[in-house]
Amino acid sequence: MSAISRNLQAVKNNISVSAHESAREPAAVKLLAVSKTCNAQAVLEAALAGQFAFGENYEQEAIAKIAALRAERPDLALEWHFIGPIQSNKTRPIAENFDWVHTIDREKIARRLSDQRPANRPPLNVCLQINISGEDSKSGVLPEQAAELARKVAAMPHLRLRGLMAIPEPEEDPEKQRLPYRRMRQLFDELREQGLEMDTLSMGMTADMAAAIAEGATIVRVGTAIFGSRDYAK
Ligand SMILES: *Cc1c(COP(=O)(O)O)cnc(C)c1O
Repeated sequence: MSAISRNLQAVKNNISVSAHESAREPAAVKLLAVSKTCNAQAVLEAALAGQFAFGENYEQEAIAKIAALRAERPDLALEWHFIGPIQSNKTRPIAENFDWVHTIDREKIARRLSDQRPANRPPLNVCLQINISGEDSKSGVLPEQAAELARKVAAMPHLRLRGLMAIPEPEEDPEKQRLPYRRMRQLFDELREQGLEMDTLSMGMTADMAAAIAEGATIVRVGTAIFGSRDYAK
């Protein structure tokens, strides 16, 4: 068994344990394997171990990897999620090559992705990135502006609004890790009560996955625990 497949098994176990602790079904929490800085071979190894959804942050790196894997293994139906910041001149390759985008925080970017989504592909699944810790520097729409952006995105013809995503400030205390995720869950519920149809809360990474699952995450985005530390690449 390779290290990647062993790690994947361990992460899935952790997801199950955390889900059960909150009386949730493990199958309600989807694992997104964050493969940024990993090569195509590592992605292939994870895919052969049964992992099909991958998250990427850097557009150029991702497109090369997606193309390499499509050429090498067209039989594998991999699902690609863009989870990095988006510059407006980089929307086209993202609209053409990804299945999901988690980091919508401006109408302009959403509009471009919708306009550039190829007609022969299903609508692009999108989440709004919420600036849940409220820092000036971070990307993400402020919680109080989320409803307005959500309504605009929901009306765009080639996007499908799926939910909300957040990257809170790093926090080591497991109890404190839950606070921003609880606010995310409340915002999600409020927007749904206002009639916005959404089914996805993308939250939780290697260090705080359990806290996010306890607060209702439906997608956890895990890199380090699967592929190892990225320190070499920094
Ligand atoms: C890198 C990254 C992750 C994964 O982080 P790990 O700590 O390696 O699990 C998740 N989400 C986003 C947006 C990231 O950039």
